[in-house]
Amino acid sequence: MTENENLETDVLIIGSGPAGGGAALALATYGVDHMVITKYRWTANTPRAHITNQRTMEVFRDLGIEPDVWAQAVPHELMGETVFCTSLAGDEIGRVRTWGTHPARDADYTMASPSQNCDIPQTLLEPIVVGHAASRGSRSRSSRSPASRSARRATWRPSRPAARRSIIASTSTRSARSSTAW
Ligand SMILES: Cc1cc2nc3c(=O)[nH]c(=O)nc-3n(C[C@H](O)[C@H](O)[C@H](O)COP(=O)(O)OP(=O)(O)OC[C@H]3O[C@@H](n4cnc5c(N)ncnc54)[C@H](O)[C@@H]3O)c2cc1C
Repeated sequence: MTENENLETDVLIIGSGPAGGGAALALATYGVDHMVITKYRWTANTPRAHITNQRTMEVFRDLGIEPDVWAQAVPHELMGETVFCTSLAGDEIGRVRTWGTHPARDADYTMASPSQNCDIPQTLLEPIVVGHAASRGSRSRSSRSPASRSARRATWRPSRPAARRSIIASTSTRSARSSTAW
């Protein structure tokens, strides 16, 4: 996107984290024209969220990326314990088996869904989501912000005249979704 270039799209997604990347993947999968604008050059550079629950895995299954997530994740059966201690290097107070890995809870998780939860940090998950979105036609611009000079000058026009234009603000500091018809 150059200084005076008009950007035409039906949906403008701000941010390529789990929310923005997931929205792009879904829209690309269903053939909805969209554009992702994200502030940094690439995806998350720190692990951040990592426990990925069954509902999320079901969405990944629907979108056809569950096997790729599994390939890089710690599987359900190897997800360990939550440790309580006085500090990171301090005395351990106790530990519990979590995320449905205790034998008394495991069947609940198994029966709840065909998809099991797993442990995958955002540094590994985001490239899978964004990569599949791109392979399905998602368009994106990195090192961009709605506040940047070029983005301020850009005009977003619907690629189909009757289309309702939407902005998805997927950054953590914004509400999950705002939609408007200009
Ligand atoms: C250190 C740390 C540890 C965490 N650990 C956990 C955990 O264990 N479990 C858990 O569930 N959650 C955890 N979280 C929270 C989790 O990372 C967030 O809930 C999740 O990333 C939110 O996803 P999101 O897509 O809404 O936003 P984000 O992941 O924050 O993505 C925001 C996106 O918007 C882009 N962006 C931001 N501002 C602009 C702008 N002005 N213009 C354009 N693009 C912009 C960013 O580049 C990014 O792509 C952790 C977070 C941190 C920081």
